[in-house]
Amino acid sequence: MSEETIFSKIIRKEIPSDMLYQDELVTAFRDITPQAPSHILIIPNKVIATVDDVTTDDELTLGRMFTVAAKIARDEGISDDGYRLIVNCKDHGGQEVYHIHMHLLGGRPLGAMVKR
Ligand code: AMP
Repeated sequence: MSEETIFSKIIRKEIPSDMLYQDELVTAFRDITPQAPSHILIIPNKVIATVDDVTTDDELTLGRMFTVAAKIARDEGISDDGYRLIVNCKDHGGQEVYHIHMHLLGGRPLGAMVKR
């Protein structure tokens, strides 16, 4: 069983967040330290620590994360110009919060994907 992080408290609204969307599978809220004009995190309501922990049982939830990301991007007015979706995994991936999350970044040209 994966351990809860601060994101579980956000899902349950026990701590404040700028929440944009929630349904029975996923929750989306603005990143507290935005790296772009639009920087939103889309997370499963169920605790899944990392991409390395996903199973076939999670496929509906993981698919929902993409459809919600696309909807929010349209709502943010960034879908025509485009945007970036990032999921960091573990240490080398730069993951800090061990509750899987998709970063939705946009609103400006984001440049090269990975620094050399
Ligand atoms: P990662 O490095 O991929 O694990 O990203 C974690 C992200 O969570 C970072 O971009 C943080 O700014 C963001 N974050 C951490 N705590 C909060 C919070 N309470 N509300 C919103 N975003 C948060």
